[in-house]
Amino acid sequence: MSRYKDEQCRICRREGQKLFLKGSRCYSDKCSIVRRNYAPGEHGQGKKKLSEYGTQLREKQKTKSFYGVGEKQFRKYFAMAENKKGITGEVLLQILESRLDNVVYRLGFGSSRAQARQLVNHGHFEVNGKKVNIPSYLVKAGDVIAVREIKKDSKIIKENAEVNSSKPIPEWLEKDNEKLNAKVIRLASREDVDLPVEEHLIVELYSK
Ligand code: SF4
Repeated sequence: MSRYKDEQCRICRREGQKLFLKGSRCYSDKCSIVRRNYAPGEHGQGKKKLSEYGTQLREKQKTKSFYGVGEKQFRKYFAMAENKKGITGEVLLQILESRLDNVVYRLGFGSSRAQARQLVNHGHFEVNGKKVNIPSYLVKAGDVIAVREIKKDSKIIKENAEVNSSKPIPEWLEKDNEKLNAKVIRLASREDVDLPVEEHLIVELYSK
């Protein structure tokens, strides 16, 4: 079990960056990146120079882990991004940011994206007044995301709402702490994404 619990921290250590996969622990000095900022495994402390392909691959893996998205879905998002106007890498990040589980996390209703995904799965949220229990649902500008009335007394929702009431909310979202809802003012732009990633490397990888 402890091995399983460390699994997410191993992902961060492999990427050499905090990916905030474990909620409050990520903000404490128990964070494995604070304590052991080197790659896991026997040779983790040795410096290894990555090939061009390896570097591109790491950027993709890091982004997938950050948003908790599998390879198939990630490919699908990439194809969507390619078919939209704009810089493909930036559009890809915008699509990932628009996932309902990410929005719920950004609003502080979930302590991590994984918890946010579980809350969405369990029917805690509605979009424009309709229950949505699909974490991959993509929000649009103008959408209103809210905790459903019957879930407002949920212990997790109450705890997260209290702990995160002063958490900074991205500028593209407008939250009402009292009503436990939020409006999507506009879709996220590249500047709104706090993941240190060189998204053009992902584009290069998929364009081979
Ligand atoms: Fe673990 Fe979170 Fe630190 Fe990543 S950021 S190493 S998931 S505690």
